[in-house]
Amino acid sequence: MKPETHLITGGLIGLMLTKSEPLLPLTLVLGATVIGAGMPDVPILAQVLADKRAGRKLFSTESRGTMWYVLKDISHSPLWFIFGLSIASMIQDVLLRKIVLGFTLGYFSHWILDALTHCGEAFKATDQTLLWPFVDHNSPPLGYMLKQMTGAGWEYRYNYMNPNETRAGATKPPERVFQIICVALIIMSIIW
Ligand SMILES: [Zn+2]
Repeated sequence: MKPETHLITGGLIGLMLTKSEPLLPLTLVLGATVIGAGMPDVPILAQVLADKRAGRKLFSTESRGTMWYVLKDISHSPLWFIFGLSIASMIQDVLLRKIVLGFTLGYFSHWILDALTHCGEAFKATDQTLLWPFVDHNSPPLGYMLKQMTGAGWEYRYNYMNPNETRAGATKPPERVFQIICVALIIMSIIW
């Protein structure tokens, strides 16, 4: 999904975790959840900035084995989820535990959404595996394999590899609907 969709989803999860908390813990846990939900895409953001600075077409040099690919594969690893849960289970302080848990759940929501929405044939060679270090960087992406095996999955991107595609960076309508539903739920949970 697009970065803003991950952040909105993280915000919704953070609110569900903290709804009845006082303002300070609510802000801290909510912030941690939103940051966790955005964190896996930080290497992709850095890659976009590097491409822009070099005046290249975005993602035009992307391939397996490049530094940006390896970094995004590592940042999208389920290992961080296991690691976060382990850390949270060892923390005695209730607030600190909730902050770590919020970050971890935000992170996990990103991983799940990516597994369901990164399945297009056009991106098979350059998408993160979502399974590092349990598979190597050359394995097909988890979302792609799920789509092949079960038919479940929906590709959220227009094919920007195709030079004739004019909607390359645009948001597809189903993702926009998902964003609107999440924002509506956020507003409802603030009001009630
Ligand atoms: Zn991602």
